[in-house]
Amino acid sequence: MTAADIESILGEWMKNAPENLVAAERALEPGLAGLRIYDDPIACACAADDACLLSLADNDAANVHLMMPEEWLPGARSVVSFFFPLSEEIRESNRKKDGIVSLAWLHGRIEGQACAEAATRFLAAEIGKAADVVIPTTDERYKVHVDRDAPPQRRYSPNWSERHVAYAAGLGTFSMPGGLITARGVAGRIGSIVTTAAIEPTPRPYEGVYDHCIRCGACARRCPAGAISEDMTKDNARCSAQLDIAREKYPAYYGCGKCQVAVPCESRIPKRREAPAHNASQ
Ligand code: SF4
Ligand code: SF4
Repeated sequence: MTAADIESILGEWMKNAPENLVAAERALEPGLAGLRIYDDPIACACAADDACLLSLADNDAANVHLMMPEEWLPGARSVVSFFFPLSEEIRESNRKKDGIVSLAWLHGRIEGQACAEAATRFLAAEIGKAADVVIPTTDERYKVHVDRDAPPQRRYSPNWSERHVAYAAGLGTFSMPGGLITARGVAGRIGSIVTTAAIEPTPRPYEGVYDHCIRCGACARRCPAGAISEDMTKDNARCSAQLDIAREKYPAYYGCGKCQVAVPCESRIPKRREAPAHNASQ
């Protein structure tokens, strides 16, 4: 099996899944009923004993609690990481500069998370017909360690990090606010599985953790909370407070995502020459 096969399985599921459309009874306004959440997913894979994957815990203090594939699943041979890009309609809805998260984006955040988890379970069941599979982030052993005395960037340390694993699998490199810039951009959700199936590894077409980020600063300028600094750090407390504003009106929802749209990395890997063009794509 290859990553292209995985893309095909996930893509077919997405085309037909009711989970990928906002149900009428969930729509925050009537016009959002039937809104498509994701476009076609992309996928990458690496060996369970890939050197980059195994070194993640060594290279970043926030990763000290990471469990390696063999710990999640004895006999693991592969790790598959995939990205679900948010639809153009959802991305477009959130491009306004007013700092107010769009209702469609809130659906992408909440119903999108449920849809991404359902798609991942479907993939696990498909691969599970011939091999063992674990979904670390929904496994009962998944845990986020909290160290309240640590600096903000080191405070939360999960035992599986979708972004770091995606980086190791070749799916993308980190964005300035801490997301992942994939071939389909940053606006979307990441998922992964660990399996005993042999999935052909994909190339990792970069060397550094920020290779795809052109340091244009557009995401920092878009942030209504001033949470992103030009030195590539994010104030997580400010960001969380901004995400929670939506709850005041819609208690079941939270989100912002202004730094993921109307930026050069919204839906693709930006070109280096775009860096000096401040606000060019906003
Ligand atoms: S908007 Fe610019 S600085 Fe921010 S993550 Fe994207 S490429 Fe990097
Ligand atoms: S999600 Fe919103 S508050 Fe958080 S960093 Fe991005 S733009 Fe800023």
